[in-house]
Amino acid sequence: MGAPKGDNLTWHVGEIEKDARAAAYGHRGAVLWFTGLSGSGKSTIGHRVERMLVARGAFAYVLDGDNIRHGLNSDLGFAPEDRVENIRRIGEVARLFADAGALVVSAFISPYRADRDRIRGLLGDGEFVEVFVDTPLEVCEARDPKGLYKKARAGEIQNFTGLDAPYEAPTAPEVHLRTATLTVDEAAAQVIRYLEEHNVLGES
Ligand code: ADP
Repeated sequence: MGAPKGDNLTWHVGEIEKDARAAAYGHRGAVLWFTGLSGSGKSTIGHRVERMLVARGAFAYVLDGDNIRHGLNSDLGFAPEDRVENIRRIGEVARLFADAGALVVSAFISPYRADRDRIRGLLGDGEFVEVFVDTPLEVCEARDPKGLYKKARAGEIQNFTGLDAPYEAPTAPEVHLRTATLTVDEAAAQVIRYLEEHNVLGES
């Protein structure tokens, strides 16, 4: 947690314990942090996970990269320091949602390991589930769902992750999705299975 700038700020502890919240919702709060190249499938699989979770009555919500950049982070670009701040703010929002008992699905490239680890450090044990959407660059580029690789190759976008900006793959993700050999449903089911096996989700 960053130190606040004001002198007279204290963190207010509420009357509801985590366990009480989990009992009320039927699951614990957690952040499912999807990371991977553009076009790897973070958003597609993340939204499928959200749908599966909501279908079983869970409080789940996708924090989507582009949507956040339209609002909260509309002042930020793609230079390294802006990317760091982008992810920092998103991590704080995700933490608040998880504290509120939600299963937060975040779908951001989040290319830097240190940034992801910092967010892990904001959360309690078992509350940060790193989901590596592992799709080879060639497959992402062939999919190119938003035409971004084409633009980047044409020199219209700079600092594009995987091309002229680095992507640091997770070394020990909680969930490793190799989407070249999985359907969207199979990948989403793998995430749900992890949550069941690690007692984040109760019985459905
Ligand atoms: P990201 O959010 O990582 O940028 P998107 O989810 O926006 O990626 O885009 C991934 C694209 O790849 C979508 O058009 C999706 O339909 C397609 N796709 C094809 N096969 C898969 C798969 N097995 N898993 C995820 N996405 C897939």
